[in-house]
Formats: sequence, structure tokens, C-alpha cells
Amino acid sequence: MLPQGMYIHIPFCQSKCQYCDFYSQPLSEPQWLEDYISGLVVEIQQRALCCDEREVATLYIGGGTPSLLSSGQAERIIDAVNEYFCLDSHAEITMEANPGSLDSIKISDYRQAGVNRISLGAQSFDDEELKMLGRRHRHSEIFTAVEELLKKGINNYNLDLMYGLPGQKVSKWEENLRQAFELNPVHLSCYLLQLDEQTPMGQRVKSGKITLLDEDDEADMYEMTIDMCAQAGLNQYELSNFSRPDYNCRHNLLYWHSYEYIGIGAGAVSYIGDRRFKNSSDWQAYITNLKQKKLPPIEQLEQMKAADKLADIMIMGLRLCEGVNLQQTSDRCAVDIGEHFKRAIKYGMDREWLEIKSGNLCMTRRAYFISNQVLCLFTA
Ligand code: SF4
Repeated sequence: MLPQGMYIHIPFCQSKCQYCDFYSQPLSEPQWLEDYISGLVVEIQQRALCCDEREVATLYIGGGTPSLLSSGQAERIIDAVNEYFCLDSHAEITMEANPGSLDSIKISDYRQAGVNRISLGAQSFDDEELKMLGRRHRHSEIFTAVEELLKKGINNYNLDLMYGLPGQKVSKWEENLRQAFELNPVHLSCYLLQLDEQTPMGQRVKSGKITLLDEDDEADMYEMTIDMCAQAGLNQYELSNFSRPDYNCRHNLLYWHSYEYIGIGAGAVSYIGDRRFKNSSDWQAYITNLKQKKLPPIEQLEQMKAADKLADIMIMGLRLCEGVNLQQTSDRCAVDIGEHFKRAIKYGMDREWLEIKSGNLCMTRRAYFISNQVLCLFTA
């Protein structure tokens, strides 16, 4: 049986960051969160009724800003998953947190509730950059949050960082990485800033008030990240993710292996069987529906045919540095993968974008920065 994950979306933040296009909005009334959690509990219960497979190997509470949850609220959610599904006794339970909204009491209580991994939205160690991004915390709060996590026995934490910010120099990004390494994290996610035009920052770029970096600088920053992480003992296991041995994010691995997951909450995406679908992104309607014990309306994102599933497995799996094992994937899909993607594989190998190592098809390092171009070869 393949492992299954659950993602729970908390669509509230203290305020909206300048670059953010996630489904989230400022929490003006604390009662909204309380009502929303009551809705989550009912959705968990209702979804369990229509699920054949209830074992959950990884639980990820993301957002938004889940660290706005009180300890009691986090406990209600995790207890509901335990009650209506079956949380594996070794389940990885991650909660996303913002440095400014964590304190030692919350950390203790989250841990008591079952949270065993924290993903901290650090983004930058430079106060000017944090201000430009519209983040509420300052760099000193990242240090304080990590200190508290360690004091409370949570050493399994990730730092999220962003590079390629408007005006950012390669040396500034290098300094950010150095500060991150000072904290000795077991996991680091480094993402290139991607801006949607609708965000305030995207608008500023569009109107010429700020300019994004050119691709050469972005590539230099990316290459430097890989080298510096390796020197710091953080092994790259995915295009943007680095970890110490045994600390890969198991929940995200489940996405990259194209295993099933259940998405709970407004705007949450599920992948079950041949379908990828999304709960409607209207948190007020979400609460209203669930008060009446009705599941929220869903939007079908994909009804996958066999060829779509194969493409999905390759596109997600090739993001991993270890790549895709051709034999195991052929067995899983009952299709000869090497034969099915013969042309794509040859095209990629001729350009030294792809290679086969110990039976695994993987991207070469020189292809990482242009991964989108490489992954396109496998679209159905
Ligand atoms: S904290 Fe995260 S989810 Fe909330 S507005 Fe900022 S980037 Fe978006």
C-alpha cells in the first residue's frame, strides 16, 4: 500500500505580504478562526466517511499562517484527524509558522498536540529585504524562534528562504545563507521569488518602480546555494530543498512521488485515484456549508487518464535529485517507462540534461536551473 498524506489549509494571516498569491487573508476577527476550525473538524469527519483508505502517514498544516492557531485549536485539528482517520504512530506532523507568531508556550503546546516538525517562514535575514517583502518579523525574531524550538525539543525544523529579490546582490544572498547556516537547520528550502502580476509587488514591477534580477544573477545565486549547502552538510535532495541525513520532508516527498493526498480546508487540493480537485476557495461559504454538514463545492482540476498519470509521475519525480527509478515506476504503472518516454529521454540525454544512474533517470546538475524546460519534455 502506498502512503497517503493530508494537507490542512489555514487561510488566515496577520497581514498580507507584498509578493503573496497564496489563498489567505488578514484575520480581522479571532472568531473567524474558531468557526473555521469547527468547519475543518466536520470536513475531516465527512471526508473520512467517503475514503476507503484512512491511514495517514504525513500531516501538513499549511497556510496562510497556521501559527495563529492557539494550542487548543491545533489540538482540535490533530485530534480530529486521529479520530476519523488513522494517523500513523510515526506520522510526520508539520506545521508552518511565522517567526513573529511563535512563542515558547505555543511551541510546547503544539508539540504536546503531536506536531513534530516546524517549517519556519524566515524568507530573509535582512531587515530591509523583510520590509520590502511586507513580512512582519525582523531577522532577530528568526533567531529567537529557533532558540525556542530547540529549547522545547523540536530540532526537526525547516527554514524557508527566498532569493532573487529585486535589487538583491549575489553577496547579499550569500550573507543570508551564512546566517541560516549559523542556526544549523536540518532542512532548508530556497525558492526563487516568483511574482504574480496581481500582487502589490508584481504591480510595482509592472509599473517599473522595481526591477527583477536578470536570469544570470538568478542562476549564479542558485548555483551558489547548491555549493554552499553542500559545504554546510545540507544535502540537496530536490531542486529547491536541502537537508541533513534522515530529515527530508516526508510530506513533500509524497507529492514528488505522486502519491495520494487529501486536502482539507478552503482552497485545499486533493489527489485521489485519478482525480485532482480543489475545495472552493471561499472560507465564509466553507464555514456555512460545514455548519450544515455539507462538504464544500469542489472544482475539478484534472481527471487523469493513464498517460496523464505517467507524465505526472515523471514531472514530479524528476524534481528529486535521485530521479525516477525506471523499473519500479514501470512496475507501478504497468507500462515500460523507458519505452513510453523513449524520445523525451533521448532528447534530454543528447543534451546532457538527463542521465541514468543505477537504474534511475535523473536530471544532471546543469539542467537544474532550466528544469522547467526539461520537465516539459514529459508532458502528456
Ligand atoms: S505569511 Fe505567507 S501566506 Fe501569509 S501573506 Fe505572507 S506569504 Fe502569504
